[in-house]
This record gives sequence, C-alpha cells and structure tokens, in this order.
Amino acid sequence: MLTSIVGINWGDEGKGRMVDLLSSDYDIICRYQGGNNAGHTVINDRGKFVLNLLPSGILRETTVNVMGNGMVIDLEHLAGEIKTLTDKGIKITPDNLKISDKAIVCMPYHKMQDIMEEERLADKKFGSTRRGIAPVYADKYMKKGIRMGDLLHMDTLSEKVKDIVDWKNITVTGYGHEPVKAEDMIDWLKKYGSFAAPFVTDVSEFLSDAVNEGKDIMFEAQLGALRDIDFGIYPYTSSSQTLASFAPIGAGIPGTKLDKIIGIMKAYSTCVGEGPFTAEMFGDEAEKLRASGGEYGAATGRPRRVGPFDVPASRYGIKVQGADFIALTKLDVLSYMDEIPVCIAYEIDGIKTFDFPTGDRLNRAKPVIEYFAGFGDVSGCRSFDELPDAAKKYIRFIEESTGCPIKYISVGAGRDEYIAID
Ligand code: GDP
Ligand code: MG
Repeated sequence: MLTSIVGINWGDEGKGRMVDLLSSDYDIICRYQGGNNAGHTVINDRGKFVLNLLPSGILRETTVNVMGNGMVIDLEHLAGEIKTLTDKGIKITPDNLKISDKAIVCMPYHKMQDIMEEERLADKKFGSTRRGIAPVYADKYMKKGIRMGDLLHMDTLSEKVKDIVDWKNITVTGYGHEPVKAEDMIDWLKKYGSFAAPFVTDVSEFLSDAVNEGKDIMFEAQLGALRDIDFGIYPYTSSSQTLASFAPIGAGIPGTKLDKIIGIMKAYSTCVGEGPFTAEMFGDEAEKLRASGGEYGAATGRPRRVGPFDVPASRYGIKVQGADFIALTKLDVLSYMDEIPVCIAYEIDGIKTFDFPTGDRLNRAKPVIEYFAGFGDVSGCRSFDELPDAAKKYIRFIEESTGCPIKYISVGAGRDEYIAID
C-alpha cells in the first residue's frame, strides 16, 4: 500500500501526530518536499518531539525513514535535530534513515539571503520563516544547487562551491552585505557534511525494491494545500509542491502510483505568516481560540492567525489533494465555545460562492458565517456514538459541505486520543 498523508489547509493541521498514529502499519515513511521551515509535533509514550526535517517514522523502531530528492536540507539543522533525538534515546542509523543523494543542501547563504530579502521588503514582507527555503529552491532551478550526493566527493565539491559562491556574491553584495567566503562554506560543508554523509544514498533504488517487494510506504507532506507553490495562495505560498500527487516524484519513485490519499484537516483554521486569510478572527475571540489550540508555530514560536472552519478553502484543499478521506483534528479545542462559527461560503462583489478563488478575487472575498451549537468537552470520547449530538452535527456538516468522508477525529494531542469511524 502506497499512501500519502497531506494537509488540506494552510499547514499545521496536525499531520505529524496523524502520521505517528497511522504509520504503525507502514514499513517506510518518506518526506518528499520542503525543509526545516515547518514543524511537526508528536507526543507519544516516549515523550514530546518536534521534527522539522526528519520523517515522523523516526520515532518508531521498525520504520525506515527516507528524505527524498524534493527536500532541501540544512545540514547544521539536521545534525542538531538528530542529536536532540539521539539524546532522548531514539536510535538513528543509516539503516533507519536514508537521505536522497539528489536532495539539495540549504546553505548558510540561503538563510542569509532569506533574511536580507525579508528586511528589504519591510512592511511588504511575505512572512518567510527565514530558513532559506525560497532562495535554496530558486538556486535548485537555477542549477546552482549543491546536492547531498556531492558531500560524498569533497575534493571536486570544493571547486564547485568556489564557483557557486562567486555567483552568489553578486546577489549578496547587491543587498549591501559583505561577500560570503568560499572557504567558510567549504569548512561548513566538511563539518556537517561528514556527519550527514553516512545517511546519503540512492533512495530511488531502495524505494523501487521496496515497492517490488510489496512493502507499505507512507509519504508525509509538510505544510498544506494552500501553501503549494502552484495551487496555493501564491505568492504567499511555500516554494515546494505540497500536494499528494507530487509525493512519488519528490520521494524518488516518479513512475509509481499512489493507492490512497489521506487529508488532514483541522476543525477550525490557522495560518502562519502573511497573505489572504478570509475568515480571520481578531481580538479577544482570536486570542481565546489561539490559547485553546496552543496555536504558536512549532518551528518559529510565532502566534498563528486563527479563524473558523472554512468551507470554500477546505473544499478546494480536498480537491487539489485528491483526498480519499479526512482525518479531522483538534475537535476538542472548540470545547470552550458556546456557539461555533463556520465560514460556509465567501461573498465576492456581492455574489455568494462556495468555490475558492485565486488571485485578486480572493483578496476581495468576505466570509459568510453561520453559527453551530457548542458541544462542550469531547476529549474523553473514543467513538462517534459517544460524541454529543451537537458535535455529531458539526462533523456531519463539515463532511457534507466539503464532500469528503471523515474517517478519523482527533480529540487530543496524545497518540490514543482519537476516534475512528467505520
Ligand atoms: P503539523 O505541522 O501538521 O504536523 O502540525 P503541528 O505539529 O504544527 O501543529 C499541531 C499541534 O496540535 C501540535 O502541537 C499537536 O501536538 C497538537 N495536536 C494535534 N492533534 C491534536 C488534537 O486533536 N487536539 C489537541 N488539543 N491538540 C492536537
Ligand atoms: Mg506544523
């Protein structure tokens, strides 16, 4: 079984915890896009873990984890993340972690460029996580990237780094910054590259063999549908493809078809960074929801923007992801509300629509809000029948309005705090 698990909304839907829950049946977990610009939080019997680069399967002893060619990897961050986990007793070896030789290294100058650009933009900034993601993807497509496989050939790499740094300095000095020194970059690559090198391999070969042997593979996405570079709220997107159909490509087996796509969707909305967020809540109302959901960025600590469940945005997310079914997360977070707002449609230029617009039309969209009855504490419920009627009504409405069946509902962050619906 080849399954992709993806975000339906703006990211932070709780993918990490769902992968942790649903990955027990899988032999291999692959990350296929992005870098350390987002965080997955997983709480299980071994503790609380924040993963930025490593696939969530790293927390399971029998799972092999793959970081695919679609990823961009900050070597220093990788070394730190591996050390934090190893210190907590997680075993990480070339047997359970395999990094594609085609993945791109995110260099210190990418981070620097990201910061310089955000500062240059000042009040027009995009809300970048300042981890160098946009610059490193841009360099990949400029064919000026350093691949993980290059780390295995340090002698020839030094020459290549000198050329790339010369080119990069045209940009760096353009920002009024001191030029980057090639020697510093080579030292950095040697230091952290030698740490990463044992994990670097041709993962395509490993994955093709696994497919032929009938192994179960799960592809784990970072961020959500609305952050996809092509189909998201461009330019307030990430720089990678966050959609399920990209999973086999970004993992390393482009000729392989997925069997199943699981969409992770939150019972309300959150959005990190800038860009249109039609049904955004403000003031006291927002503060209460943010506090109840613990909505502060896992990678950056930034307070997340919050809002009610958004039907047009979620319908669109489900469509572009091609989700077969949904895991609805964080239902318990709404427990404190007497009545629960839902954005059931948008109004654009006086016309009501259920479709998610792009471009300028999205900027003009206004939310149409309907209120549902509050349902109180659901954190102890472990079956659909146990849920209060008002909660059942809320879930059925979401299911009907988005047109996709809900098969799991999470009611807490712990591994067992969920409901499975047959
Ligand atoms: P991801 O990026 O999609 O993996 O999501 P994040 O980890 O950034 O954000 C999800 C947060 O919600 C994490 O802190 C989780 O521990 C927490 N979480 C996940 N599911 C639930 C749930 O059902 N209820 C509550 N209260 N918290 C949850
Ligand atoms: Mg996250």
